[in-house]
Amino acid sequence: MCIVFTCGQHEFSSQLQGAEGLLCQCHNCGNWSASVVKRHPWFTFCFVPVLPLSIHGYEDVICSICNFAQPLANRGDVLEQMRLMQQNGGALPLQNRGPPPGPPQGWGGGPPKEQPHMQYG
Ligand SMILES: [Zn+2]
Repeated sequence: MCIVFTCGQHEFSSQLQGAEGLLCQCHNCGNWSASVVKRHPWFTFCFVPVLPLSIHGYEDVICSICNFAQPLANRGDVLEQMRLMQQNGGALPLQNRGPPPGPPQGWGGGPPKEQPHMQYG
């Protein structure tokens, strides 16, 4: 009788909360197709996850084209984009909304000048 126990590793991944829909540039292929993913590796026994290998998981920037993965901590530009998203209430920052409001227009600088009356006769 031979019993085979299969041990392995399974990884659960999901988009990082606060960075859903955020696309950033891949530093490997240069495409703007990388997204921020939270990964939780688990130790599996007979294909059943029984033990988390990482308590907090890993936060990576993973490209959907070439599958290149980079730790989120190494991507300061992505962290900055996430900070801007949180400032905007979870929305992507809007760009080119128009010039900022300037001083009011149409102020002539003083009361109108009186014209001298011309009298004939
Ligand atoms: Zn790539």
